[in-house]
Amino acid sequence: MNNDSLKIAVYIVIAILVILFYTKDIKLFDENFYNDIQEIAEPDIILVLVNKNFKLSASYVPDDLKTINVKYANENKKLRKSAKEAFELLSENAHQQGYEIIAVSAYRDYDYQNDLYEEYVTTMGDEYADKCSARPGHSEHQTGLAVDVSGSNDDYNLFAESKEFLWMKDNAHKYGFILRYPQGKEKITGFKYEPWHYRFVGIEVAQIIYDENITLEEYYDKYINLN
Ligand SMILES: [Zn+2]
Repeated sequence: MNNDSLKIAVYIVIAILVILFYTKDIKLFDENFYNDIQEIAEPDIILVLVNKNFKLSASYVPDDLKTINVKYANENKKLRKSAKEAFELLSENAHQQGYEIIAVSAYRDYDYQNDLYEEYVTTMGDEYADKCSARPGHSEHQTGLAVDVSGSNDDYNLFAESKEFLWMKDNAHKYGFILRYPQGKEKITGFKYEPWHYRFVGIEVAQIIYDENITLEEYYDKYINLN
């Protein structure tokens, strides 16, 4: 191979790498999402699985929503009682160790999620909207068991860069919370990596998910027969 053809070969390889880099997000997601949708029969169970294939009805509202103490959350953020109590304990214990973990979003009703999703569609298009936002009925926030947090850098989008993120990595499961949308699991969860989004599943299940480094979908697959 002479010098010129070597150069061309190198350029081609670089071009392929650039294309792969910019299209990798698209390939992360399974084609089956939103194709085979079932309505959730038991929305009140703590382990309820809500994702792009399991949907909550538009009228579902948990009946035990409680407002999180403003010491641990922005104003008027609600979670179901057990999740609220676990989150307050988590945030309080973190605070005592020098970490500030604040709930910035918690329960969201169907209509709110609808508006949020439509906003993404209008501004960014529907392909992007489906990566970043759940369609109404498909958001875990409607369960009252999911919470978005910010750390001492005060921006949930940058939560992964805060010291609180590392604390959550080691401690969230002890309070019954799991990192719901981990990096590298996009094809399983249907959502991009969200370091700020935690889901209450109870301490026992959170410990298993933590130990086995799996998602809630994989937990269901392994331990719960859905059919
Ligand atoms: Zn969230």
